[in-house]
Amino acid sequence: MISRYRARVSLSAIPLAKPSTDEAEVNAVAAVLQSGWIAGQGPMGTELESAFAQLARTTSGIAVSNCTAGLHLLLATLGVAAGDEVLVADYSFPATGLAVMYCGATPVFVDVRADTATVDVDLLEQMISPRTRGIIAVDALGMPADWHRLERIAQNRGLFLIEDAACAAGGELNGRACGGFGDAAVFSLHARKGVTCGEGGVITTNDAGLAAEARQRANFGMSSAFQRQAGETFTLPDFSSLGYNYKLSDILAAVALIQVSKLRQFHERRQALATTYGETLAGMHGITVPHVPPDRTPTWQTYAVTLDEGIDRNSIILGMRQQSIACNIGTYSLHRLPVFDSIRSECPTSRALFERHLALPMFPDLTISEQYRVVDALARVMRQAT
Ligand SMILES: *Cc1c(COP(=O)(O)O)cnc(C)c1O
Repeated sequence: MISRYRARVSLSAIPLAKPSTDEAEVNAVAAVLQSGWIAGQGPMGTELESAFAQLARTTSGIAVSNCTAGLHLLLATLGVAAGDEVLVADYSFPATGLAVMYCGATPVFVDVRADTATVDVDLLEQMISPRTRGIIAVDALGMPADWHRLERIAQNRGLFLIEDAACAAGGELNGRACGGFGDAAVFSLHARKGVTCGEGGVITTNDAGLAAEARQRANFGMSSAFQRQAGETFTLPDFSSLGYNYKLSDILAAVALIQVSKLRQFHERRQALATTYGETLAGMHGITVPHVPPDRTPTWQTYAVTLDEGIDRNSIILGMRQQSIACNIGTYSLHRLPVFDSIRSECPTSRALFERHLALPMFPDLTISEQYRVVDALARVMRQAT
């Protein structure tokens, strides 16, 4: 009995997500510290911007302090203000709706497709009003949204279109890269995301004017201090626009640069794990594995199964935790959150996913034996629940 107990407690806990770093990131930090430029918009930031522009196949990138700041920065630069409405995919992290509120504008939440958890474009089209200024759609949990249709609608109706690509570094739709859709996109470099430096974000866009203005506004409305110090003239910044301090430190940019260089290898690992989950969980009672339409490549930032109606998802999370395995919800149904209380809307599909999605451990360093432990534990916990 005692030895069995020991065997149980000696099993290490399996986290939901874990950043994958090695000496390369440590060395990159050391090099920046020694370089003398550790603030934002320095050489590392510029390199990171190029790396993300290449990834998204856009002409510009703008490094920012996080994805939420990037979304706010874009909306502010596009002139979104009180009285405006922005259509927002309902199944997302709160940041997507909060960024609209920071501008004093109103997020209008649109329900999502049940299979991809991305915005339902037919519904969205019906919800355009005279006050609608634009759209923020989301690559939900790393699954690309229906960008071709969204781009057509935005263009025909004169709306801006922003891609919340927080979870989508490396994702593709019909051969086009995530981060390259709409007027501009924002990636997150938070610890839970596919490439990370702890906290950070990058905007990508093909609109050079928007990029230049957003980059200035991320630095109080002035040009980069690193560039100014090297200029041949001395000019004082004029502070003519409402600027913010949304820069990403060059220390963090250097870490993110190393991570981007590993993206392909991270993606292959996540894809292999997703395939194994799909094969081993497909027949499990009470569970539906994610569906991937043939035209898109998700990033598997989150691997979420859908539990049958009537199964108490939160008690499954607790049951898994008792076996030292961290699970979680998929993400949030924004219209259900008190902070968005004043905005009435009906999004039954998003609400159901909010209640029934179960995210399983998913990160590049998850081993195959750990993954089998997850599957075995889930089978046990599900048997008890159904
Ligand atoms: C994580 C996330 C954000 C916020 O990213 P931060 O970099 O933490 O600000 C925004 N939108 C979505 C969809 C996310 O998953």
